[in-house]
Amino acid sequence: MTEQIQPVRGMNDVLPAEIAAWHIIETAAREVLTAYGYQEMRVPLVERTELFQRAIGEYTDVVEKEMYTFVDQGGESLTLRPEGTAGVMRALISNGMLRGQRHKLWCTGPMFRHERPQKGRYRQFHQVSVEAVGFPGPDIDIELIALTARLWKRLGIERVRLEINSLGTPESRRAYREKLVEYLRAHHDELDADSRRRLEGNPLRVLDSKNPDMRALIEAAPVLTDHLDGESREHFQGLCAALEALGIPFRVNPRLVRGLDYYSRTVFEWITDALGAQDAVCSGGRYDGLIGQLGGESTPGIGFAMGIERLVALLTQAGAPAAEPTADVYIVVSGERASAYGLQLAERLRDALPERRVELNLGGGNFKTQFRRADRSGAAVAVILGEDELARGVAAVKPLRHDAGQSESPLPDLAAAIQTALATAVHT
Ligand code: ATP
Ligand code: MG
Repeated sequence: MTEQIQPVRGMNDVLPAEIAAWHIIETAAREVLTAYGYQEMRVPLVERTELFQRAIGEYTDVVEKEMYTFVDQGGESLTLRPEGTAGVMRALISNGMLRGQRHKLWCTGPMFRHERPQKGRYRQFHQVSVEAVGFPGPDIDIELIALTARLWKRLGIERVRLEINSLGTPESRRAYREKLVEYLRAHHDELDADSRRRLEGNPLRVLDSKNPDMRALIEAAPVLTDHLDGESREHFQGLCAALEALGIPFRVNPRLVRGLDYYSRTVFEWITDALGAQDAVCSGGRYDGLIGQLGGESTPGIGFAMGIERLVALLTQAGAPAAEPTADVYIVVSGERASAYGLQLAERLRDALPERRVELNLGGGNFKTQFRRADRSGAAVAVILGEDELARGVAAVKPLRHDAGQSESPLPDLAAAIQTALATAVHT
């Protein structure tokens, strides 16, 4: 036998039986974002490698070891996007959309990172990422957090809690950076290889280490929040006060620094205790310096991304949503003429009932087989068309999910009869 082709490690199929949860999350996200005035946009999966190096920063896990980078036939170094923000900012600049304008945007799709695959951590994963550009905050920071809180409520997700912090400005970080470097140098022997490299390149990154052996050392490090500049402190206090006023519980976590380089001031993360080690479901923050760093005119920005796989896991933990039915109406046909006519009838019903899913039995089969398929399709109503019905110009309409008897309808009235039957049908 020919050998099977294996899937790529860390890249998942989403099967029809699992898609209901994805649709619930994608629909809720789209509706909530639309209700807050955010517009969808789409950017390429592939960008020049340099974009991510500049936007995300060299001393990060993503750029140091997780990017899918390749040289294309034209000799250019390209990278599969590891996150959404850099591409969206690049697009705003390339399309001349800044110039003092403000944008509230979102995009969704697959992201690629060469990480060690495990539960909740994949090499292809999906995000909804949301960006607001041209707003200095903190009002927009608060709106974004309120929006996420609303989304969890809409989805019935309860086991998440909010952590926030402020990273101050690059200037205020400089003073802190010196204190941190002094502390880390004094503990040089306890640093792992990554941290030693980052100590020289970007010492704040050390605080974002995922190595459990580094935890105690990081816990005891000087705290950035103690070194905030006045304006950043005010910004942060505004954020905290408004969250309290809105009744959104939060915890200030002075160790929250986030993995990407471009953040300033507000950072936040929604954490769950329901998924084990992969506990972040939504992470974001303010990136006032990013657009300038990419060659655009300096414009404040803030955004966040949520991991759809982790939200799907949270949603299905409480009980997997039922698989979506493929049909509302299933047409059972018997006999050659009725089968041929069935194709026309199905098209006519799809014209008349555009909101309904109409499935025609294909590939023949006796009544028993066809009714088994009708049952599996999830249809609430079967239409039965045999030679006898066809000769009399009628079809039978049979509710499938309760005991009400079957009735007959003249073919021209069939769509109305189906609507009536569906209106009274009880889905199980
Ligand atoms: P983590 O700390 O879990 O590595 P991160 O800080 O790298 O997350 P971001 O880059 O901010 O995460 O991405 C935002 C969200 O995307 C995360 O909160 C998480 O829900 C999801 N996410 C990130 N990496 C992965 C992955 N490899 N597989 C699945 N989801 C992911
Ligand atoms: Mg990560």
